[in-house]
Amino acid sequence: MPQVTRGLTSRKGAGRRGVSIQLAKRRRVTQPPADLACPRQSAIMSYQVLARKWRPQTFEEVTGQETVTKTLQNAITSGRIAHAFLFSGVRGVGKTTTARILAKALNCHEGPTPRPCGQCVSCSEIAAAGSVDVLEIDAASNRRIDDVRELRESVRYGTARDRFKVFIIDEVHMLTTEAFNALLKTLEEPPPHVKLILATTEHHKIPVTITSRCQQYDFKPIPFSLILDRLGLICREEGIEIGDYGLRAVTSVAQGSMRDAQSTLDRIIAFAGNRVSDDDVRSLLGVVDDKLVLATFDAILAGDRAALIRQSQELADQGIEPLNFCRKLVEHVRNLMVCRVAGWEEKLVNLPDTDKELVLAQAATLSEIDLIRFYDILSRTESDLKWHLHPAIHLEMSLVKLIELTHLPLLEDVIGQMQTGATKPAAVPAAHPPAAHPPAARPPAAHPPLAERPTPAPAARPVTAPSPPVPPSEPRTAPVPASEGSQEQHRDPAINHLMTALQQQHQFRIYGALLEAETSQALSLDRGTLRVRVSSTTHAKTLQDPASQQVIKTQLTKITGTESGIAVEVEGADAEPGHDPTEHPGIRNLFEKYPGKIIVQRKVED
Ligand SMILES: [Zn+2]
Repeated sequence: MPQVTRGLTSRKGAGRRGVSIQLAKRRRVTQPPADLACPRQSAIMSYQVLARKWRPQTFEEVTGQETVTKTLQNAITSGRIAHAFLFSGVRGVGKTTTARILAKALNCHEGPTPRPCGQCVSCSEIAAAGSVDVLEIDAASNRRIDDVRELRESVRYGTARDRFKVFIIDEVHMLTTEAFNALLKTLEEPPPHVKLILATTEHHKIPVTITSRCQQYDFKPIPFSLILDRLGLICREEGIEIGDYGLRAVTSVAQGSMRDAQSTLDRIIAFAGNRVSDDDVRSLLGVVDDKLVLATFDAILAGDRAALIRQSQELADQGIEPLNFCRKLVEHVRNLMVCRVAGWEEKLVNLPDTDKELVLAQAATLSEIDLIRFYDILSRTESDLKWHLHPAIHLEMSLVKLIELTHLPLLEDVIGQMQTGATKPAAVPAAHPPAAHPPAARPPAAHPPLAERPTPAPAARPVTAPSPPVPPSEPRTAPVPASEGSQEQHRDPAINHLMTALQQQHQFRIYGALLEAETSQALSLDRGTLRVRVSSTTHAKTLQDPASQQVIKTQLTKITGTESGIAVEVEGADAEPGHDPTEHPGIRNLFEKYPGKIIVQRKVED
């Protein structure tokens, strides 16, 4: 296989055997194969993968790196060409391609020119990776100090034919520290006929002594739409029939890498031939159908746990990896957020127009806060899935968790309640309507009151009102909870009178403790005995204090006209003195929904 042999020779030869040997080898192997008797064998041997066949040959053809190519072209035009370059960026975004085009621009017979002709011997040899004066070295397999010493040696000799001797060192971060040090001198003051182009996917691993001696170019991941366009062009030119869905799926898998996109396309063509159906793409890439993602979100919004479980099963039946599906869900959350803040913009949401209505409807139903919570849970699930023993179950549980999330009040509201001792969820803030195109299907309530949200099946979780974890000092003015009026109507009249008397006598500490008990319906008057059940240590302490009990007894005796007593019951771990605040039911409940930790524990002075 001549092509393979050539590749290997060029890389290894430059490092181990020196340049002169390599030149001879290159000359020999670049000769076309002598006789290919069988036409089928000829076709197989001449086949080039798409990434090589469609490798850009001019600066203009490089996709998505305009800043880099423009700067290089300007440098060549103005004759201000650096002696060392460092190209960094993720795999498959055009680093080596740009390095070769730069080499062509420098060595073209009509150059140096920002637009190499592509016809002369130098241009065509560089394009075929077979130029005598352009040496591509793979630092991953030539990483030792001896390899760099050989490179330093060859730098001293002049060019064989062209204007410049160009060294392209790929994956340069793989060099050892000693090798980097040996390279320093060459990088700083190479002979005038030498240009060095270093390329790396891991810029942070390059010593600063190296980076500071190079002109640095940062290659960005290629935007979705540009890869999509390029793949479309390739398919048209190659006579491949593939739908919009297939192209989008391939582009999506590539995650900004043109080479990955083209390799994936190659794989699909090898599998399906020249007519690629959506099913071919789905089964080969394990791509998750957008409809499944939309249906999953519909189930979450409707609070339909059963549907969610059924869909998880469907995923397993279709052989879709839970990790893949989770990634897709994260993407969808991101798309919903885009729809909320910027409206439907096809370039931004990366979705076909056919899904527009459904996506907008979902975006309108969820608030930004909901989406941030979803994103948080799903991205953590995504990283957990990589090591989880039962990924399918983990994902299933996370999805059910999302349903719970949609019923949560805002964190600020909960904290507000805990501080003020308010008994009902605070007023829900006004909805922020989505940015544009509100769909008619669903009301754009950004943060509907809890009651308006889809209610889950009979709540298994007991609803306990959060209570202050720290004792409030006796305030000067009476705290009047917003919901007090409505509660008074359901109280035992004697308790009503007691509460009023406590307020009038400025016994706010006792009043607050009783109010907490009442909120959780743990306050009753039973044959002259006031029965109280509290969960907060502070309130328990207050009510267990003999002085407080005396105040209550005296008031009750006055009101009911009979000798009264008080029975205080303390519930939960909170009852222990010196307790861990995270064991407080209210705080525990909070932590279940908002993962975090206590940073400051502070006594709240009302
Ligand atoms: Zn040329």
